[in-house]
Amino acid sequence: MKYVGAHVSASGGVYNAPLNAMEIGAKAFALFTKNQRQWVAKPLDEKTIDLFKKNLALSGILPKHVLPHDSYLINLGHPEEEKLEKSRAAFIDELERCEQLGLDKLNFHPGSHLVKIPKKDPEYEEKLAKAENDSLDVVADSMNLAIEATPDSEVKLVIENTAGQGSNLGYKFEHLAYIIKRIEEKSRVGVCLDTCHTFTGGYDLRTREAYDETMDAFGSIVGFEYLMGMHLNDSKPPLGSHVDRHHSLGKGEIGWGAFEFIMNDARMDDIPLILETIDETIWAEEIKALYALVK
Ligand SMILES: [Zn+2]
Ligand SMILES: [Zn+2]
Repeated sequence: MKYVGAHVSASGGVYNAPLNAMEIGAKAFALFTKNQRQWVAKPLDEKTIDLFKKNLALSGILPKHVLPHDSYLINLGHPEEEKLEKSRAAFIDELERCEQLGLDKLNFHPGSHLVKIPKKDPEYEEKLAKAENDSLDVVADSMNLAIEATPDSEVKLVIENTAGQGSNLGYKFEHLAYIIKRIEEKSRVGVCLDTCHTFTGGYDLRTREAYDETMDAFGSIVGFEYLMGMHLNDSKPPLGSHVDRHHSLGKGEIGWGAFEFIMNDARMDDIPLILETIDETIWAEEIKALYALVK
């Protein structure tokens, strides 16, 4: 059974998100539990939490099919101490908000190393690999600290793969595996695969053979036991471009094939499958179209 939805608006209050999901016929959804472009948010009060839970029950969507996304400001691999501390504190706050809402996942991008290496540098490859590994170590430390800071929580830290734009980490499956290997409490870690990021990160999904090859690579490098959600997006830029620009399903470079494979792949059963496509006015149609692909 597949649980498809979209990253819906929580404007006016987090309790509006389940209602917005219900309106488009979603069986899953993503949301920001605070303004994603601000560092500080007022704590969730009892009334807000109760209303969220009430509306979630009303929507019929289970907490495990909700995939909250953290703020875009957070960089758990930041090279500067002060900014790293700020990110770590904000991330722990995000985990606590998920826990308060009765949710069990927090989706986040691993981070950025922010090191500038000129492409013409003869040691470009070596220097890039070092910058990435150093920063991935910092990300893993940040995650271990966040887990230690929330010992009674069952909220899983769900790392999203990225397109690898700029100095973003996480565009190779090996990056995800590298982080997971360094997490002490493995029951608190998971992965979210974004189809646009996977594709522009260099993994093809368009044909049966390409899809199988990509998913086999994910299975052997990371492992499907860690797959706890997916973002279903088509892509404006081409394969391997390392540019993160989503498109509506079937309108980009990926095309419907990949989504048909996913909708018929049992490894994606019972996890939130979330649209972050660019035209929210057609989300209801996109959800219907995805379910129509199930054979
Ligand atoms: Zn995504
Ligand atoms: Zn994206």
